[in-house]
Amino acid sequence: RAKNGGRARTAVFDASLRAQLAEQVNLERELRKALEQQQLSLAFQPIYQLRTGELASFEALVRWTHPELGPVPPSTFVPIAEDSAQMGALTDWVLRSACARLRHFQVLPGVVRKPSVHVNVSGTDMCREGFVAQVATALLTNGLDACQLTLEITESTLMQRLDAALEVMARLRELGVGLSVDDFGTGYSSLSYLSTLPITSLKIDRSFVQRLQDGGRDAEVVKAVITLGHALGKTVIAEGIETPVQLARLRALGCEQGQGYLLARPLTPEMAATVALCDHGWGEDGTPAEGERLLD
Ligand code: C2E
Ligand code: MG
Ligand code: MG
Ligand code: MG
Repeated sequence: RAKNGGRARTAVFDASLRAQLAEQVNLERELRKALEQQQLSLAFQPIYQLRTGELASFEALVRWTHPELGPVPPSTFVPIAEDSAQMGALTDWVLRSACARLRHFQVLPGVVRKPSVHVNVSGTDMCREGFVAQVATALLTNGLDACQLTLEITESTLMQRLDAALEVMARLRELGVGLSVDDFGTGYSSLSYLSTLPITSLKIDRSFVQRLQDGGRDAEVVKAVITLGHALGKTVIAEGIETPVQLARLRALGCEQGQGYLLARPLTPEMAATVALCDHGWGEDGTPAEGERLLD
């Protein structure tokens, strides 16, 4: 009996594994088509200065709407791109599209500040032949200054390729591009390497911001990260701000910038253009007025 049960389980496991593999292969092929057929788009989530409420930047987030499957989340297809050697094509598309949009925001009549954008890249992107040139071309083609672009790299993918990535990061900094460690606090990094990274900012992972809600020990961790970031001369950015309590605590701790559903969702390029135009901060008392947030 036990043996049969075991075999049945194995069979079920094999079937689901096969289904998973088939789905993966299918998505690989579909993604290839998506890249060719313009099924991808970008959403832009505003990042604000937490002290004044002024717009600091946008984070470009890739979106895929498949004609039959509907929206496929980046957490599903970005790893597939990575595994099927399509990451280069994906990142190139995102970089060029984000820079083209930024150019568009910049030339809107009435826009106050030069807008800037964060683009997510992986450790393998950093180490690909010609990556720095690709970044330089995207900027030049669109008449953007290098300081208008920040590349975000997650702590975990950075650590996989640290030595090679460090050299490329140094060249990107020479170009003037900003560099940010994304999802900071979730990877395997030791604190000792942080001071050696040529980065301009770090992004505190959403999971820490969430735990700020209840105060206590986790608040101490966030406080320590902000202190450390500042001691190293980095800008600290919080992601996933969802409640006024989280926002207030981050501001009190001196976290410079932040993004999250409380402030704004990832927006269509058209909505993002409106945000770039109506960039007047939070006004006198320095807190977001009711109804001023939720630009979604
Ligand atoms: P990330 O870079 O950490 O991006 C932030 C993610 O958090 C985004 O999810 C965003 O929509 C979501 N988010 C923002 N504010 C809130 C909030 O208040 N609450 C919650 N619960 N979520 C919030 P998204 O767009 O699904 O992207 C997921 C991840 O996929 C990104 O995490 C990034 O690692 C990756 N990704 C997205 N676009 C790209 C891209 O163009 N290239 C690469 N390589 N990776 C990308
Ligand atoms: Mg990011
Ligand atoms: Mg992040
Ligand atoms: Mg994250």
